[in-house]
Amino acid sequence: MRLHVVGSSASVPRPGRACSCYLLRTREATLLFDLGSGALANLHETIEYSDLDAVLISHMHADHFLDLIPLRYGLKYGPLMREDRMPLWLPPGGEAMLRKLCSAFAREGKGDFLNEVFDVKEYDPKRPLEVGDVRVTFRKTVHYIDAYAMRAERSGASIVYSADTAPCDEVVEHAKNCSLFLCEASLGLGEEIAPRGHSSAAEAGHMARLAGAHRLVLTHYGSEYAPRELEEAGQEAFGGPCAVVDDKAAVSV
Ligand SMILES: [Zn+2]
Ligand SMILES: [Zn+2]
Repeated sequence: MRLHVVGSSASVPRPGRACSCYLLRTREATLLFDLGSGALANLHETIEYSDLDAVLISHMHADHFLDLIPLRYGLKYGPLMREDRMPLWLPPGGEAMLRKLCSAFAREGKGDFLNEVFDVKEYDPKRPLEVGDVRVTFRKTVHYIDAYAMRAERSGASIVYSADTAPCDEVVEHAKNCSLFLCEASLGLGEEIAPRGHSSAAEAGHMARLAGAHRLVLTHYGSEYAPRELEEAGQEAFGGPCAVVDDKAAVSV
C-alpha cells in the first residue's frame, strides 16, 4: 500500500498547504481519506481525480470535507469526468449536513447537486467496507463531533488514520500492531483543557507506543511549531521511528 499525503494542515492551513487529505493506492484500489480545503489542487497533481474508486470522510468538519464542492464541479463540468457516479462514503448523519451546505449552491431545477456525480452513502462504523483489495474498519474517536478513525488493511499490512481525536483507548485499540499509524498532532507541543478533542505530538507518540504501532507519522499540524520539534516530541513518547509529514510526501507499507 502506498499512502500519499495530499493535505497535512490542521484547520487553519499552513502557508501554501492544504487541509486533511490522504490518498491510498494499491494494485486494485485508489481511495481517499478526507478531502479538506485546498486538497483537490494537490490531489490533481498526483492523480487524475476521476480515477478515485471511493472517497471516505472521517467527520464533518470543514478541514476534512470542504473540497468535495470543487470535486463535484470538476466531475460535473471537467476537465476530468467519468461515466459512473463516484462512491462517496460519509459518516452517519453526514449526508444531511452536506446536503444542507450544498443547498446554498444548488440551483432550482438543475438536478441534484450531489447525486449527479456522487453515489452518496453513509458507512456503518460497525461494518467493514471493502474497496477493491482494501478493507477499511472504523472506530469512533474522542472529538467535538462524531469522528471515525479508519484502519485500512491489505495482505497483512495496515495503515491506521486517527482522524481528529483526543488521546483515547478506542483509537489505541484500533491501531493495535498496525504497520503505520498516521496520527493527528493538532496541539503540537501544547496542551488542551476539557473538553478534549485533539492530541499533541507527545500524546500521539504515547498512543502509538500503547498500540504497538511499527511506525508513527504525525500530521494535521499548524504553523506554530517547527516539524523537527514535533518529531522529537513524538519520537520520545513513542520510542520508535516517527516522522512529521508535509503535503506531497508518500510512504509505503
Ligand atoms: Zn475535526
Ligand atoms: Zn481537523
